[in-house]
Amino acid sequence: MSQQEGDRDRINIAIDGPAGAGKSTVARMVAGQLNYVYIDTGAMYRAVTLMAQRSGIEANDTDALAKLVEQLRIVLMPGEKAQAVFVNGEDVTNQIRSREVTLQVSHYAAQESVRSMLGKLQREMAASKGVVMDGRDIGTHVLPDAELKVFLTASVQERALRRYNEIKESQPISLAQLEQEIAERDALDEKRAISPLTRAADALLLDSTGKSIEEVVEEIVRLKNRVSTL
Ligand code: C5P
Repeated sequence: MSQQEGDRDRINIAIDGPAGAGKSTVARMVAGQLNYVYIDTGAMYRAVTLMAQRSGIEANDTDALAKLVEQLRIVLMPGEKAQAVFVNGEDVTNQIRSREVTLQVSHYAAQESVRSMLGKLQREMAASKGVVMDGRDIGTHVLPDAELKVFLTASVQERALRRYNEIKESQPISLAQLEQEIAERDALDEKRAISPLTRAADALLLDSTGKSIEEVVEEIVRLKNRVSTL
């Protein structure tokens, strides 16, 4: 198949869902299999949160936050394990995963200035198709025309347990506390006024409880191939 023919088949895939549903891992693997670009939009909200925290700007200080956001240049690059994130040239890949950022990110993500700047950037990134983008509002707001939309979820207990197994060596936190924090973050994301976390009417619901990552990836690639042949 020539490059051009291949390009004509390229679609955009939106993967939304609550915290810890495995979106990032799944989206990255799907992108790898299809030779698509993976875009972790949560990392972008985390990057804004980190920079605001460093400048001492609270999430509800709308004017200061809007000014800060204008000065940020966020760049995503494919990395070894996770996607590498740069802000104004600085590699913040590890810092955006800190507990301080995780606990606060939903408050910053609820702000209009943050959402409009990042939404615009995300749309630009997806303009030439061939993108797998994961987040909370991709199917509903950022890419409402995405050819394939998946809403990936799992029980809160399973999501907490997966996160616990990932971080238990490095962070002293109990499973019960993690479960509570994940549930709180979901509630904030679901209840915010601007582009809340919700399943798009045309998104396929995929419950990964009890499924392996490989099974979920296979299912999405199969769905993609079905969309491409329509
Ligand atoms: O995906 P991750 O858990 O890293 O996302 C961190 C936070 O960023 C979410 O809890 C949510 O508040 C915010 N977010 C968002 N919209 C997106 C992606 C993430 O509001 N598209």
